[in-house]
Amino acid sequence: MLPLSVLERAASEMTNYQRSGMSVMEMSHRSKVYDNLINNVEASLRRSIGIPDNYKVMFLQGGGTQQFSSVPANLMKTGKADYALSGYFSTKAAQEAEKFGKVSIAASSKEDKFTYVPQQDQLELDPTADYFYICSNNTIYGTEWKYVPNTGNVPVVADMSSNILSKPINVSDYGLIFAGAQKNMGPAGVTLVIVRDDLLGNIDPKMPVLMDYKLMADKNSMYNTPPTYGIYILGLVYDWIENTIGGVAEMEKHNIKKASILYDYLDNSKLFAPTADKRDRSMMNATFRTGNDELDAKFVKGAADLGMSNLKGHRVVGGMRASIYNAMPIEGIEKLVSYMEKFEKENR
Ligand code: PMP
Repeated sequence: MLPLSVLERAASEMTNYQRSGMSVMEMSHRSKVYDNLINNVEASLRRSIGIPDNYKVMFLQGGGTQQFSSVPANLMKTGKADYALSGYFSTKAAQEAEKFGKVSIAASSKEDKFTYVPQQDQLELDPTADYFYICSNNTIYGTEWKYVPNTGNVPVVADMSSNILSKPINVSDYGLIFAGAQKNMGPAGVTLVIVRDDLLGNIDPKMPVLMDYKLMADKNSMYNTPPTYGIYILGLVYDWIENTIGGVAEMEKHNIKKASILYDYLDNSKLFAPTADKRDRSMMNATFRTGNDELDAKFVKGAADLGMSNLKGHRVVGGMRASIYNAMPIEGIEKLVSYMEKFEKENR
């Protein structure tokens, strides 16, 4: 979901952005008006999450998946990195990184079907690794890192695609953060990268030019044509968080409230069971099942009939998944839980 007010504002500015006489879609990215726009988007994000001056911000293309390659290409200075496998996308990222150097698995919850997030005392960290990689919210399995790993001087790289802006973070705990826009920030097609500037400048010049973070950062994401309209929508969403919600700390309060309504119900249900360990449950993706595939399918269909779509779990895990990203209002959760209560009464 995107906030309705964001979509309405985009609609109202669709044909004439701030009296420019054209849509953002029609604008040259080299124009003064677009230059202002992208600078304002970055400034607003910097205020929202408190990005220190020694961190670069980039708006790139290629999705989260492109960063699985770009991260090792840029950050594997000595050719080795540690990865924590806590779900589907960290596993994909580690596989991709193997093309660039030596990947060590510092921890994995695969044997337990990724129902938990490895804890600090389970991490086997190499103090000489170029970075330590985590996926901070496991979109498919519904678990979330509730702590920032302590790695000494090794920079932590985090894929925050599915929980960026859901709560305050301390950017300086990380060497690099990336996030595809399509969960909490805007339309698919833009990927945000935030990186500490001293980590840049080590890419092999034979690598494709668009993978060069330093070049992209030096050119303010405009070495080539950036995803202009997507970046504009990001700006509207950042504005919504800052000025309508009141900042990421307030956003977190909303998200805690939403997730608690759903998890409290799940913890007391005799029909539905949450699938992730309580300690590590995600505030963004709640996974659960009845234990009976037919009943799960009936539940998903009934929900869709009531206008609640996308409740089917990801194909690799089955069951159900409620993705309750930032823009999902509390009423959306209440509606879901009241449907679950009714379904439970009728199907026990
Ligand atoms: N990382 C995470 C945490 C994701 O949830 C996803 C997509 N759902 C990806 C990476 C891959 O992103 P993309 O499809 O934009 O390449």
